Amino acid sequence: MEAWVEQLQEEVNTLKRLKKFIHVTPDEEDAISTMKTKWGTTPYFASLMDPDDPNCPIRKQVIPSKKEQENVFGMENYLVWKENRDTEEIRPDSIARQYRDRVAFTITDICANYCRHCFRKEVVVDRDLKLRMDVEEGLEWISEHKEVRDVLITGGDPFILSDDKIEYLIVKLREISHLQMIRFHTRVPIVLPQRITRGLMKVLSGFHKVPIWLNTQCNHPKELTEETAKAVHGLLSCGISVGNQGVLLKGINDDVETFRELHRKLLATRIRPYYMFYCEPAPGIDHFRTPVEKGAELIRDAIRGHTSGLAQPMYVIATNIGKIPLMPDYYIADKNEKEYKLKNYQGKITTIPTI
Ligand SMILES: *Cc1c(COP(=O)(O)O)cnc(C)c1O
Ligand code: SF4
Repeated sequence: MEAWVEQLQEEVNTLKRLKKFIHVTPDEEDAISTMKTKWGTTPYFASLMDPDDPNCPIRKQVIPSKKEQENVFGMENYLVWKENRDTEEIRPDSIARQYRDRVAFTITDICANYCRHCFRKEVVVDRDLKLRMDVEEGLEWISEHKEVRDVLITGGDPFILSDDKIEYLIVKLREISHLQMIRFHTRVPIVLPQRITRGLMKVLSGFHKVPIWLNTQCNHPKELTEETAKAVHGLLSCGISVGNQGVLLKGINDDVETFRELHRKLLATRIRPYYMFYCEPAPGIDHFRTPVEKGAELIRDAIRGHTSGLAQPMYVIATNIGKIPLMPDYYIADKNEKEYKLKNYQGKITTIPTI
């Protein structure tokens, strides 16, 4: 059996299995045994947990918490709003649309790790929103929409599917002449790096005029191991660029040290930071959410001017009308007929002439 399949079969999703990795606290035990929620991770990701520290950033992303029931600010029917599911356009459940030229295509609701902060919780974790994830139906819709030139394959985690299914999907998408690129969104390089096998690399590699891009999700430097570095290198060797879409999470990565270390280590692992997301107002994740300003402050205080420009993600909030950048307000401090006044990360001012 391939190592990644074994990882999934031995999913850490019971108290008994979790206890092989950490000293479970009474709070954690209470949440696991009383809450009806899907949870679990791979033995690999569980092995990165700190056995003695309940505030371990990996534990917080994996183990259910009673705080998930204290929903005050999370929006009801969040995904229906966010993914424009009650608009006039008729689309299959698998297609979420916010833009004219690109769509998100959901092909599974299975993940290798059920992230407690997941904004798609209603589908993936709580499963109170049932979507039909019919691949054929989605492919047909895309082939009928010539304005769509970029398809973002998401889930769940699309890399949970077999090599054959992934290959079928890529082949079918490449038959659609108006598609210019295929993107995968997968947490596998972080939570199940064993998935990047020779077999999968064979499916993904080779020159084709329709390239594959990939974004993963890494939120804390502890998640970046040698296994991940090798998996990323494998993907890059297939001609696939690997980016990161992190989530700003309270108590996990919202301090200057961790935020800077995360972005430095991403580059050292050959992953290019793409987006840092504000934690969305989905239900049951209030306890992970910071003030909106926090991310912009961290970009200013931890990244820009403090480390390689390549390490800089765009800080965005994903909404029903698309992603909205929330960058620090240090660029145009003032403007008059003669000049623009610009402020740097330290608050220093300079001017350039207007045109
Ligand atoms: C995030 C997202 C996209 C892609 O956005 P980019 O800014 O191009 O990365 C496309 N469609 C939907 C529905 C999305 O949520
Ligand atoms: S891998 Fe993605 S879809 Fe799955 S639980 Fe985590 S954030 Fe949600």
